[in-house]
Amino acid sequence: MDAIYTELAKRIGLGHSQRIPRLFEMIAGREEAEMLLRMPGNAPSLAEKLGHDVERVETALETLFVKGLVFPSAKTDPPTYRMGRDLVQFHDATILWPGAPQAFLDLWQDFMEVEWPEVAKQYSRIVPRPFTRVIPVGITVQAKSHVLAYEDVEEIINSSKSLSVTKCTCRLTAHKCDKELEACLQINRAADYSLARGTGRKLTKDQALDLVRRCEEEGLIHVVMNKQSVDHFICNCCSCCCQTMPVLIQHNVSVIEPSRFAAQIDPELCTGCETCLDRCFFGAISLTPDQTAQVDEKKCMGCGLCQVTCPSAAVTMKEVRAKDFIPEKLFG
Ligand code: SF4
Ligand code: SF4
Repeated sequence: MDAIYTELAKRIGLGHSQRIPRLFEMIAGREEAEMLLRMPGNAPSLAEKLGHDVERVETALETLFVKGLVFPSAKTDPPTYRMGRDLVQFHDATILWPGAPQAFLDLWQDFMEVEWPEVAKQYSRIVPRPFTRVIPVGITVQAKSHVLAYEDVEEIINSSKSLSVTKCTCRLTAHKCDKELEACLQINRAADYSLARGTGRKLTKDQALDLVRRCEEEGLIHVVMNKQSVDHFICNCCSCCCQTMPVLIQHNVSVIEPSRFAAQIDPELCTGCETCLDRCFFGAISLTPDQTAQVDEKKCMGCGLCQVTCPSAAVTMKEVRAKDFIPEKLFG
């Protein structure tokens, strides 16, 4: 393989990977790879560095943008282009490459199965806090006054300026379940980005609320970036295909933080039907000898999925972590 693709993999910290250079090779021709290595830059500066005319560079940048390999910043005029900063950006953006061949998607899945658990372990040792956190499903948290704007799915949607939905990159490559595929809610700049790229479908607020309710009923967990604003995405994650949940569930790697809430079950109301046991990704619910459900708070991620389908309304969510548990800014 041309060493240029290993160089690109190094840019996202994965020069040692067996698969990431091959993924770069599949998505970028040599001239595109050279351009990526000269970034950041705008069309005129890249044209000068590469010895091409500006029009040719502009056309190439448009192609790289649609492929998900570059991100333009409109803070400068003309816009400055840069590569994806890390593995997650490279993963999430390139999987939605409209012309992605199946072999490319399959190689991504191979990476997720073989290399990702170890890479995730290394990330979790380096960063002080995980990049993502759970937010509880909208209908479950009853102590409304304690729910902050950035952990309330309805509030996030209602206060957004722009919304779109894209396919879930994890289910698109893993297809281990038949849960909602078009399920990644994009917010504000991320929505505008997906619409400009042609990877997103515009949603009204009502459509977005319908989507999250459907996802809650299907048993998908809402996940956002781990900071005190939600202006990027609300993922709707399953336990099998997702890039974070299996790493947490099967490998016990801390790649996602819980919400500030935990489920509690009223033993007077619980009939021991076990519906909630099946809903919980994390094995946090068990039956007591007298056949009522109980929650292990240490395992509970505060997603609220168990409450959605409890036929006896025996589950409520209680606040178990202080407001400052959610970091102001993203770490790492
Ligand atoms: S779903 Fe509700 S009633 Fe059924 S076991 Fe769980 S808490 Fe009890
Ligand atoms: S018990 Fe399980 S399903 Fe219920 S809120 Fe906790 S993590 Fe979610």
